[in-house]
Amino acid sequence: MTFLVETRGMSERALQIAARVEHFVRGTVVPYEKDPRRTPHGPSENLVLALKAEARAAGVLTPHILSDGHHLSHRETACVLISSGLSPLGPIACNVSAPDEGNMYLLGQVASPQLKARFLEPMIRGEMRSAFFMTEPAEDGGAGSDPSMMKTNCRLEGNHWVINGRKTYITGAEGAGMGIIMAKSEDGACMFLVDLPNPAVRIERVMDTLDSSMPGGHAVVSIENLRVPADAMLGQSGEGFRYAQVRLSPARLTHCMRWLGAAIRANEIASEYANRRVAFGKPLIDHEGVGFMLADNLIDLRQAELMIYWCADILDGGVLGTAESSIAKVAVSEALMRVADRCIQVMGGQGVTGDTIVEQVFREIRAFRIYDGPTEVHKWSLAKKIRRDWKKANEA
Ligand SMILES: Cc1cc2nc3c(=O)[nH]c(=O)nc-3n(C[C@H](O)[C@H](O)[C@H](O)COP(=O)(O)OP(=O)(O)OC[C@H]3O[C@@H](n4cnc5c(N)ncnc54)[C@H](O)[C@@H]3O)c2cc1C
Repeated sequence: MTFLVETRGMSERALQIAARVEHFVRGTVVPYEKDPRRTPHGPSENLVLALKAEARAAGVLTPHILSDGHHLSHRETACVLISSGLSPLGPIACNVSAPDEGNMYLLGQVASPQLKARFLEPMIRGEMRSAFFMTEPAEDGGAGSDPSMMKTNCRLEGNHWVINGRKTYITGAEGAGMGIIMAKSEDGACMFLVDLPNPAVRIERVMDTLDSSMPGGHAVVSIENLRVPADAMLGQSGEGFRYAQVRLSPARLTHCMRWLGAAIRANEIASEYANRRVAFGKPLIDHEGVGFMLADNLIDLRQAELMIYWCADILDGGVLGTAESSIAKVAVSEALMRVADRCIQVMGGQGVTGDTIVEQVFREIRAFRIYDGPTEVHKWSLAKKIRRDWKKANEA
């Protein structure tokens, strides 16, 4: 493999899958980066299908889930997903992008065999996209950083739940074949699996956003008297946040993996530019100001990689890893933002153009500092943990 990879303790099978994914992304996916079927709201459905067909043919579709349904470990997944991220289109082609990858993980962990057959298996086969409906519009006073503010409600009528509310920033809602919808009953939060499209789940609009790599973009959605059979609830009424926890840490970490791959590629492009481009009589990299930026990139990339493997090992130990995934998410998203910004600076005017993927990586990573918990919210929850731990130690 040609990029940073912590191979110590990595299984042979994961290294082989990662090498196949890297070969596929660099050789087959990268040429699609100029495909006109890319839209400001993400790659069109047509392009997504073409990319998935390529991945299927190359044997790298959903490569982190084995043919017997078992997932690679989190550490192994890291190696594979970093490789997929080497192009912003790579995760979509390989069927490991958000929100599908996190949704597949959740269903694999907690869904009944019937719900797995109906929703999970078509997703693993790359035949269906999904969306995760939690956040609500700020203007409604709904759930955002604070999910307990959830306003979308559900009530039991016979053997159906009836759901009403509004959601926002719902990635991939447009074009999704299924949704995981969160709503509150009198017992607390609940999670439902819903076939899409559904006339009771109306896309109000797809927003114009800074990022542009997610198929379907990000939508504001109205849910009006959506009737869901009682057996399509995941777990029990009131357990929704517990299930959200199952998805939370792994999904944060897989975002880190994919965006690390993208930042590695951006850094390769910037390094190439700095070695070839001459100014004031020598290659840019020989000017200390530029060389140091690339050196700082290497340091940030390596630290991000080690942070991901550290957190993956903790999740592989079978714990939720809530605090550790907060630490990793903040450290990696902030480090990759610095890397992407330096790449643009090193490349001068070309860095801000669409001629390379560097400007896209910069935009995407900016958004990553907000979704799956803004940096400040993670720091706030870590500070609360420090306080709790201190009290426990001092009250004992
Ligand atoms: C590109 C993108 C894709 C997304 N996809 C989805 C999706 O598919 N499904 C879904 O349900 N949601 C999705 N989201 C929503 C995302 O999870 C929320 O944006 C995030 O939880 C923050 O909520 P908010 O935007 O309402 O910000 P707010 O809650 O309004 O917070 C605004 C800012 O206030 C600060 N802040 C908040 N609380 C604290 C605190 N305790 N301490 C210090 N500072 C604080 C932070 O800086 C934060 O950025 C997506 C968001 C983006 C940008």
